[in-house]
Amino acid sequence: MARYIVGLTGGIGSGKSAAADAFQALGITVVDADWAARVVVQRGRPALEQIAEHFGADVLLKSGELDRARLRQLVFENEDERRWLEGLLHPLIREEIVQALAAASSPYAILESPLLIESGQDTLVQRVCVVDLPEEMQIERASARDRNDPEQIRKIMAAQLPRVERLQKADDVLDNSGDLASLTAQVHALHAHYLELAAAGQ
Ligand code: ADP
Repeated sequence: MARYIVGLTGGIGSGKSAAADAFQALGITVVDADWAARVVVQRGRPALEQIAEHFGADVLLKSGELDRARLRQLVFENEDERRWLEGLLHPLIREEIVQALAAASSPYAILESPLLIESGQDTLVQRVCVVDLPEEMQIERASARDRNDPEQIRKIMAAQLPRVERLQKADDVLDNSGDLASLTAQVHALHAHYLELAAAGQ
């Protein structure tokens, strides 16, 4: 089990995955909170049954898998339903993350999570690393990646922590306003630092 965990966060399109890839290339285990969120509602998991009981069977696809788009629709404008769903899923996601982190054997591990701070997952980590860039670049990169219109990206950003508040929580910042080579160089520098911190047990 890696005893030293670094939380990697940032808004949509900030470059979390790109930074996580660079850590992974250095042999560091990366646990992705989005992956955990998908795993807990896979077929055969109790949470999926509970969701189908609560919202009705038409929240499932013909294959028996969760119809994510339908579920998003159902909770989008209903605060009570959203709370119910979060109450069910957040502890399960957390447990999945804890188990995956416990299985990590690298000197330290990374928890990559878009909502690290918002969801309270930051209590699982010793240090917070924020991937940061100007909001206009974030919108540009995220909409190019997702082929989404910028308005849609702005809406998602509005549900995430504002840039300034996220930066206030950062122990370390990866400035991703440059190219990928610049991001990778910064990851390499942080990696050396994290190895030292992990070895010192700090
Ligand atoms: P996140 O995981 O935070 O949502 P990604 O890592 O997927 O963000 O990055 C968003 C998009 O921007 C992706 O298409 C990615 O390839 C691209 N990208 C990330 N960092 C850079 C960079 N430094 N220069 C150019 N494109 C980048």
